[in-house]
Amino acid sequence: MSERANLDTGASWTHPLYATLEKLPGVSLGLASVDDLLAWGLTNSLWVFPMATSCCGIELMAAAASRIDLDRMGTIVRGTPRQCDVMVVAGTITVKMAPRVLKLWEQMPEPKWCIAMGSCAISGDFYRNLYSVIPGIDTVIPVDVYIPGCPPNPEALMHGLLRLQEKVHARRRGEKVDRDPNPDLIRVTQPAIPRVCERDLGRNDELSKLQADQAGRVTEEQMCPAVDVPFEPPPPATPVFAPDFEGLLRELGVAVAADGPPLVPVERHFEFARRLKELGYRQLVSIVATHWLAGTGRAGKEEGASEHLEVAYVLRTVGPGSRLATWAVRVAPDQPIPSLVPLYAGADWQEREQFDLVGARFAGHPDLRRLMMAENYPGHPLRRDFPIDAHCAPWR
Ligand code: SF4
Repeated sequence: MSERANLDTGASWTHPLYATLEKLPGVSLGLASVDDLLAWGLTNSLWVFPMATSCCGIELMAAAASRIDLDRMGTIVRGTPRQCDVMVVAGTITVKMAPRVLKLWEQMPEPKWCIAMGSCAISGDFYRNLYSVIPGIDTVIPVDVYIPGCPPNPEALMHGLLRLQEKVHARRRGEKVDRDPNPDLIRVTQPAIPRVCERDLGRNDELSKLQADQAGRVTEEQMCPAVDVPFEPPPPATPVFAPDFEGLLRELGVAVAADGPPLVPVERHFEFARRLKELGYRQLVSIVATHWLAGTGRAGKEEGASEHLEVAYVLRTVGPGSRLATWAVRVAPDQPIPSLVPLYAGADWQEREQFDLVGARFAGHPDLRRLMMAENYPGHPLRRDFPIDAHCAPWR
């Protein structure tokens, strides 16, 4: 006992106090009993910090409610990292959220453990290749127990906690405890109920029998026969605008386009919005920017078109018989557009969003910084030339 080993690093050290204590009669026995008592206390008081971000979080909440009642295992959920020793990550973690999760993890006192609950926390699941989602929480913090499923039910969480208890016990006994392997890497996340598709049939006896049973039944093609309907392209749409909006377009010499909102020259855009506000269009509904590469545009292929952004605006009047007004401005990718914040307070976050995702710049915006993505995110993910598999260090 005089030599203690650090289970993580393998380093060992001695202390004269251990050697002295070991010589006293009965002390070893007493220390062993105290150690057992502490291990019992530790394993039966795992307090959970809920890092619940999406649907799996609902299952986590259900586990804490009266039907499952995690409390009977001594596990309670606390809303502060300083009082918790298990972080349960339940849900999708975004690139912007990841540093915050890490900060909360670092605020938890040692010893501490992490449970990844559900496919999103394990691997990012369907969102894995999305520009904004990290491919598993174990790219940020170490995970001790994985609970596969989408979502895992409360009983699965309870089972995960029991597995964690076993690990904590083993570690207190001085055994080397390995972290769980990521189930996504060893491919155990396949559906538990076999899906019968064509390539499965004939693979084994059971499936062959199923195939025989299904013989003679109505096939999908018989149920939904393909019908040969001649395709007629729809006639070009004729835009219908409110008379006051149409009058303003005429007054300012803005042409009506059949393939999208009328294009207002960028230098007249602010004045255009101001006049619309005077006409009663007091609600800013949306601002949406689209990035077009050279040779493309709203009409599809556009010969000779250079790379550009098109930013579309929608306003409406408030009250019964509401009228809509919509227009767009077309600018070079780095060309600033006058901000509408002095006219519409709601333009503030909408312009920030378009700056963040598409890179549109708004001159005169009081605080043009990222809104959705992490502060250090490289580039603008909704530009058409954004490499979708880009790595955003260190989480993608
Ligand atoms: S694993 Fe499924 S249930 Fe859980 S957060 Fe992801 S999508 Fe939702």
